[in-house]
Amino acid sequence: DNFFDVLIIGAGPIGIACGIEAQRAGRSHLIIEKGCLVNSIYNYPTNMTFFSSSERLEIGDTPFVTTLPKPKRAEALEYYRRVNDKFKLNTHLFEEVIDVKKLDNVFHVQTNKDRYTAKAVIVATGFYDIPMLLNIPGEELPKVSHYYNDPHYYAQQHVLVVGASNSSVDAALETYRKGAKVTLVVRGKEISQRVKYWVKPDIENRIAFQEIDVFYESALKEITETAVRLQTPKGEVTIQNDFVLALTGYQPNFAFLKAIGVAIPDESPRIPTHDPESMETNIPGLYLAGVVCGGLNTHLWFIENSRVHAEVIMKHLAASGR
Ligand code: FAD
Repeated sequence: DNFFDVLIIGAGPIGIACGIEAQRAGRSHLIIEKGCLVNSIYNYPTNMTFFSSSERLEIGDTPFVTTLPKPKRAEALEYYRRVNDKFKLNTHLFEEVIDVKKLDNVFHVQTNKDRYTAKAVIVATGFYDIPMLLNIPGEELPKVSHYYNDPHYYAQQHVLVVGASNSSVDAALETYRKGAKVTLVVRGKEISQRVKYWVKPDIENRIAFQEIDVFYESALKEITETAVRLQTPKGEVTIQNDFVLALTGYQPNFAFLKAIGVAIPDESPRIPTHDPESMETNIPGLYLAGVVCGGLNTHLWFIENSRVHAEVIMKHLAASGR
């Protein structure tokens, strides 16, 4: 039937870890994922290398074997799919959770395909579905993207990359190496300190050698079919443009969290209300796991430090007699 001890929303690395720990605790589980398995990682840039070493991405005590210390996207897809198979997890893909309601101590979960009931619900929905918008004229043009995939597409094109973090720097370097004319727009005075330590010298040298143009302390103000207008310390600058990659970060789906009853403060970083000791939200039996816990602070949690949420939640479920 459609009743489960633990229903998990999201089949990212942490949702999968929650499924494994539920199974280990002898609890029935269902993981519901709106896209493919590890959908966020699937949608990362094709050639992406993780900043974490392989062993720090492991779940379910299953070795993640790679020949280089840092895995690539394709290896992570392979790994998490194999882990999901190994534990024979009950994972429904391409099914979206629309609503969660608690009635008489039972959770009623509505998806676009079916209805379920559960004793406990874990929200492990990540933050990669909703980009931070620039809210400027022209942002809706088809040449503007908040996700970057493959560099080949941009060969011979004038590409503007917005942002100075890992996503922006990777996109700038890759498209430059496929023959794009790349300009980087950076809000601050320098490339972010969080950029992968082996990538940072590369971008700094490309900028120093004027192979990639950069505008520091600048903002993109307007996008048209053929140009972009920037506000820079030296005044307004308009440059030729074919594509804009606005890689300015992502945010959790606050509307969904609110709709299912999780309290969210209005002020930044809007961390969804939960007890860090148990991961339980303001609704008893409703838990958060993984990077969704950081609210707008999307650098707070990553796989290495949030995979433990799965065990924490199972312990709390046992202790609270659910
Ligand atoms: P996610 O992997 O985001 O999984 C959430 C899942 O929930 C998604 O598959 C989504 O489709 C699904 N979902 C959302 N809403 C619903 C719904 N209503 N119904 C059903 N399903 C839903 N972290 C690291 O630890 N190391 C790294 O090197 C690293 N590199 C990164 C590089 C990039 C480009 C990005 C964007 C992030 C990176 N991160 C890295 C952060 C990384 O995304 C997370 O650590 C990891 O994916 C978080 O796992 P998660 O399970 O919490 O969330």
